[in-house]
Amino acid sequence: MAAPTLRRGTCGVVLAALLGTGLAACGDSGEIKKPDLVEGAEAGGKLTIGISYDEPGVGFKDGDDYSGFDVDTATYVAEALGVDDDDITWVRADPADREELLTSGQADLVVATYSITDERKQQVDFAGPYFVAHQDLLIRRNDTEITGPKTLHDRVLCSVTGTTSSEYVREHYKGDITLKEYPRYSACVEALLDGKVDAVTTDDLILAGYASEDRYRGKLKVVGDGFTDERYGIGVRKGDTALVAKVDAALKQYIDDGSWRAALDESVGGSGYDLPDPPTPGTA
Ligand code: GLU
Repeated sequence: MAAPTLRRGTCGVVLAALLGTGLAACGDSGEIKKPDLVEGAEAGGKLTIGISYDEPGVGFKDGDDYSGFDVDTATYVAEALGVDDDDITWVRADPADREELLTSGQADLVVATYSITDERKQQVDFAGPYFVAHQDLLIRRNDTEITGPKTLHDRVLCSVTGTTSSEYVREHYKGDITLKEYPRYSACVEALLDGKVDAVTTDDLILAGYASEDRYRGKLKVVGDGFTDERYGIGVRKGDTALVAKVDAALKQYIDDGSWRAALDESVGGSGYDLPDPPTPGTA
């Protein structure tokens, strides 16, 4: 008997932007499964989970509706830990607030395009990785001059405070690029459309989600020349090794039972896009 479906997301929107086609079809890769409980988990728990609220296709809040690959991932992991969909409290995790949400106890998990870094590991622990993205550039569709990271001399770039993306620009383009930082990507995208910045830089997955939004379609494009590896982890409070082990077990199951690919197909995949192979959870 087929396992029940947890949720269905938006089909293929991110793919369309990544390919610059404006077109995408749904993949035929099955459903997000009802997960088995992982070892040590008991049904009936509750979790507060930090997600992005303004990354379309990845982590997005629209009224009372939460959608995107990170939301699907968090929902699956929570269920594998014994927490029903209804017993999840979602909280906004803007990039600069992610560590604080965990250290202050305001969130039990952070599932928010959260790259695993040694610096962050000083304050929080990570399960994962569950996805590897790449830093890239979002530009106005009619821009033919910016074609990759080597064509940014004297340009004004926008990214978000507290991200590996901003840090990369500061480290690699000192004095050569003007970096504007905002608390959220939506502000960067507006600045790009208004001509106040030349490009927005962060993970390709996030940028593609913006480019494929209806209101931006045809106005923006992702350059598609990724220049870093961003290994996404699920942040937990430092020292909670038991929770890390359970989340890693849930992520392995998520990948192995096909739900990982189904979730990506819904939000990222579709015709022609070569989805990456899954990474190996438990190696954060
Ligand atoms: N994944 C990167 C980070 O953790 C950049 C994207 C983001 O999450 O804001 O900083």
